[in-house]
Amino acid sequence: MVLKDRLFTNVEHVRRGLADNSACGICSHNFEYALHAIRDCNAAKVIVAQMYTDGAVKAESSLATAGGVMRDRRGKWILGFNRYLGICSVLEAELWAIFNGLAPLLNLGHDKVLINTDNMEAAWAI
Ligand SMILES: [Zn+2]
Repeated sequence: MVLKDRLFTNVEHVRRGLADNSACGICSHNFEYALHAIRDCNAAKVIVAQMYTDGAVKAESSLATAGGVMRDRRGKWILGFNRYLGICSVLEAELWAIFNGLAPLLNLGHDKVLINTDNMEAAWAI
């Protein structure tokens, strides 16, 4: 996943026209590439785990899914998930994605988790 640069880093957000700032949100390095986010960011090294989640809702039916990837601070895979949610809003799908990723990480003993979401409303809600 890292090699294909599919993590939704800030560089990826800018490339897709979803944001205008590609800097790391933790240390303000100019470019938050995937390797920076999971391996090279010195400020992120105090974080035990990183979680990348997303929720998706089909416009015509409101049917939703949630998914995510969790890695330790060195980028080693911890777990991943995807889940069918049924009918819900975009915000609900994003929050379910975060909850479904966070709960197992906490159960595994990770008490310092960096949550990456592409939904500002969900970020404000938590
Ligand atoms: Zn950084």
